[in-house]
Amino acid sequence: MGEGVEFIITKTFHPVQQKLPTTQEGNFYAILFYMLNYRIKKSSKAKRVSIRIDQNRQVTLTMPALFPEYLAKQFIDQKQAWIEEKLATIPNNIYTQEHYKQHKEKARRIISARVQDWAQIMGLSYNQLSIRHTNTRWGSCSSKRNLNFSYKLIFLDSELMDYVIIHELSHLVEMNHSKRFWNIVSTYCPDYHDHRARLRNYEK
Ligand SMILES: [Zn+2]
Repeated sequence: MGEGVEFIITKTFHPVQQKLPTTQEGNFYAILFYMLNYRIKKSSKAKRVSIRIDQNRQVTLTMPALFPEYLAKQFIDQKQAWIEEKLATIPNNIYTQEHYKQHKEKARRIISARVQDWAQIMGLSYNQLSIRHTNTRWGSCSSKRNLNFSYKLIFLDSELMDYVIIHELSHLVEMNHSKRFWNIVSTYCPDYHDHRARLRNYEK
């Protein structure tokens, strides 16, 4: 039998406390519940059962090919506390590829509708709208009048989402960050200064 993922078992919810971006009202924490998927690998090379946790919080148990599965599951139960301890030390990023897949279509619906509204208000037209999984950018606008937005926008306050949308739509008129550009932004989003500052919190 070769190396490879044989099966995945899903175990108890794993609560994680995550600090939310600082707001004017103070600091808040969210308790997020994770379902842990344990990958179980059977390996002809493995001499014993071992557990590995990677930076994406993936827990993998490797066991010798002929090792009984129920003993592997027992092993996980025994190591539960150790696993949770290890997971707690890994920086928690909820925006995984899996999270993106789960929310992409919803993000497309919400963001498209909002972009259409603002484009109409601002009297602008654009080509294509894409939803992306980005780490550093909330949105972008190309010279071909295509708009890209991060799916994470839907997790922001709606006024911040609106600001990002207005910002990118304004680039349809001014492909730069000149005074003229900011004048357009401020016409539709007078509080853009505050919004920019708050967005920077989210970027950390
Ligand atoms: Zn810009």
